[in-house]
Amino acid sequence: MADAVRKVVAILILVLGIGLLWAAGRSSSSGAEAAKDEVEGTIAAARERAASQDPRLKGAYSFERGGWVYVHLEGEPEAIGFQHGYLLAPEIEDAFPAVQAGMTHATRRDWPFFRQVARELLWPKLDPEYQQELQGIAEGLNARSGSALDVYDIVALNSFEEVPDYYVPWLNKREKAAEAPNLKSPGNCSAFVATGSWTKDGQIVIAHNNWTNYVNGERWRIIFDIQPTHGYRILMDGFPGVIASDDDFGINSDGLMVTETTITQFEGWDPDGTPEFMRARKALQYASSIDDYTRIMLDGNNGGYANDWLLGDRKTGEIAQLELGLKAYKLWRTKDGVFAGSNWARDPKVIKLDTPEFQPNNLETSPNARRVRWDELLEENKGKIDVALAQQMLADHVDSFEKKDTADERTLCGHVDAAPRGVAVWAWQPFYPGGAVQGKVTDSTMAREMRLVARAGHPCGDEFQAKPFLAAHPEFAWQEPYLRDMKAGPWTPFRSGEKPLATN
Ligand SMILES: [Zn+2]
Repeated sequence: MADAVRKVVAILILVLGIGLLWAAGRSSSSGAEAAKDEVEGTIAAARERAASQDPRLKGAYSFERGGWVYVHLEGEPEAIGFQHGYLLAPEIEDAFPAVQAGMTHATRRDWPFFRQVARELLWPKLDPEYQQELQGIAEGLNARSGSALDVYDIVALNSFEEVPDYYVPWLNKREKAAEAPNLKSPGNCSAFVATGSWTKDGQIVIAHNNWTNYVNGERWRIIFDIQPTHGYRILMDGFPGVIASDDDFGINSDGLMVTETTITQFEGWDPDGTPEFMRARKALQYASSIDDYTRIMLDGNNGGYANDWLLGDRKTGEIAQLELGLKAYKLWRTKDGVFAGSNWARDPKVIKLDTPEFQPNNLETSPNARRVRWDELLEENKGKIDVALAQQMLADHVDSFEKKDTADERTLCGHVDAAPRGVAVWAWQPFYPGGAVQGKVTDSTMAREMRLVARAGHPCGDEFQAKPFLAAHPEFAWQEPYLRDMKAGPWTPFRSGEKPLATN
């Protein structure tokens, strides 16, 4: 069946190619251009028709709502990957050059370097099922769009949080690279998980807003509903072409509720470790308890994208914080309490060994200012926290250091493009176009039904406009091909298995 379709496409291409030569030979150049466009359009349509017949697409679908693209993926690893690459081909084609530009610009390394890291360092460490899924993404993408990206491009894309800001600085230090660029581990996100007497009805509430540069954040708008043959069902937000949530926010059908914020000024990498993006995906897919989750994240810990993981288990009502350094780590857990995150490490051993430059008492910096604000806000609302209140908290604009209500780099809903100070601890220069780019919330009841709510864009609803920003800040002109307006959508409910026409 698929072979027959391929044969038809091949013949079609041949016939149209001859037609093009004929048209080019006899008509003006503009006529030939038009004929060429028509031929290319017809070939693309034929390819897409052929690909849509692929049996690996069985059961998969996607739809857009509230600024998000929802994709339902199911089956064996290769099928899940193929569906991902096929359904999100336009989003991957859009996101790939944007991420690529960011990675090469920041590190001053070319793309073949990242492909080589992917092929030689990361690929051999991946479990076969994730190799198959990544291969499937490349194949699905190619089948739909004719993209030339191969599996190593996709693996490099999956490593976009861990290789540029963790591996490359480690490598530069090791190679004693002259004039190495100033690379710092990123400060991604504001988040909390609460339970017991802290929440309105005693159940777990978990909330997260994703902080990145706006170029990536504008594209971080996928809701993945994954029903794998192996492991638990997953509902998570994510990035086109990437197998982990990676910002991270997700729930699984056995009761795990997961999010994180990164550890500021983290340093370290273990070249013998397993890529973080695979461990994070595996943990969400296979963990049925906080202990399971911790075990999977520790297994092959490479130090990449080092996070404070905030976890909940709706079966027990217990929450936890796993501060996952490379040389040290610590796990706190409780059935009555709250853990917040805004990119600061708290365990003295982790701070000493893994974040030697971090100053926990400098309240002027973004991570510590937001820590102060989380403490105030959560204390103020103890016993009242629910999903609606969590949404408001993610949109909070109180700068605890300056003690005023103003959206900037110190507010839980971050707007660093409005901040003349930038965020030096992450090497974000003044007015860096980055901050909170979307938010997600759920609670135990919703998680039991595999539901969450998500808002695309700044959680406060403000819009970022690219054109006036670039006019005012020409130092970011290199982002111009990729930076666009970031509009906020409404808080939008999603659940596993919902169909395109479902109303909520
Ligand atoms: Zn805001």
